[in-house]
Amino acid sequence: MKILVTVKQVPDTSGKVAVNPDGTLNRASMQTIINPDDLNAIEAALTLKDHLGCQVVAFTMGPPPAEDMLRELMAMGVDETVLVTAREFGGSDTYATSQIIAAAIDTYGLGEEDIVLAGRQAIDGDTAQVGPQIAEKLHIPQVTYAGEIKKDGRTLTIKRILEDGYMTIKVQTPCLITCIKELNTPRYMSVLGTEECYEMPMHVMDYNALKDHPLIDATTIGLKGSPTNIYKSFTPPQKGVGMMLEGSGKETTDKLVSILTDKHII
Ligand code: FAD
Repeated sequence: MKILVTVKQVPDTSGKVAVNPDGTLNRASMQTIINPDDLNAIEAALTLKDHLGCQVVAFTMGPPPAEDMLRELMAMGVDETVLVTAREFGGSDTYATSQIIAAAIDTYGLGEEDIVLAGRQAIDGDTAQVGPQIAEKLHIPQVTYAGEIKKDGRTLTIKRILEDGYMTIKVQTPCLITCIKELNTPRYMSVLGTEECYEMPMHVMDYNALKDHPLIDATTIGLKGSPTNIYKSFTPPQKGVGMMLEGSGKETTDKLVSILTDKHII
């Protein structure tokens, strides 16, 4: 049994966000981090590995510096990593990205007992489309928003966390699950792992490795294969500093009512 985890390297938007004159993110000038939800997916995979002894493989599509992130994942306990990278893949929107990652997973090999884990969404693109689209392209069932995963043979019982409750779904492998932060607390890299990760081999899948896959042709990848066009992007004006109300519950409520009344909001 293998657990294949899709992981995206994203700009650290908690720091200074650099924006190009055309409104796109200036990724080159920003620090990068592992997409937070993907760390929860990795932790879920490593927890299953701890209990069941399976193999964990991380996939990322991105430029060559994404190697650093993959080494970090190996230091956490991931067994193998696959860097999917090619100039032809640049400019891909979510449709093309999921096309390429699905082709990479299929080329690597997805067995009957295997599970694909993804984060719910990436903090830069924020679409939450890539995981479900990969499942569609691999023709496997998908369960999104997983806050708990239990495994019994080929049956997984997933607790989906919704805004106003939860839903429990049973699904058979092979399947794809998208993970949210409520699922677990990601572990740190181990000291031994930090040393070993630089000795471990890393698989690279370039355009030549994937070009004969049925999901890949010039019309389905890269900028040309991307049906999404950015019509307009802009940086929203910064919000003003918030106001803190102090005092007892009654005092703060009275102040709030008075402020809202003055502004003719109530
Ligand atoms: P989500 O769907 O929110 O991510 C969900 C999950 O999918 C993640 O948690 C992760 O598990 C998985 N996932 C998503 N992306 C990857 C990945 N790359 N590798 C592994 N797993 C992943 N972005 C660029 O970086 N370079 C470009 O040149 C570029 N060009 C674009 C051109 C257009 C016209 C458009 C519309 C977008 C472009 N983007 C580009 C953005 C890019 O399409 C998205 O960042 C990417 O498709 C993932 O979408 P998302 O961030 O919304 O991920």
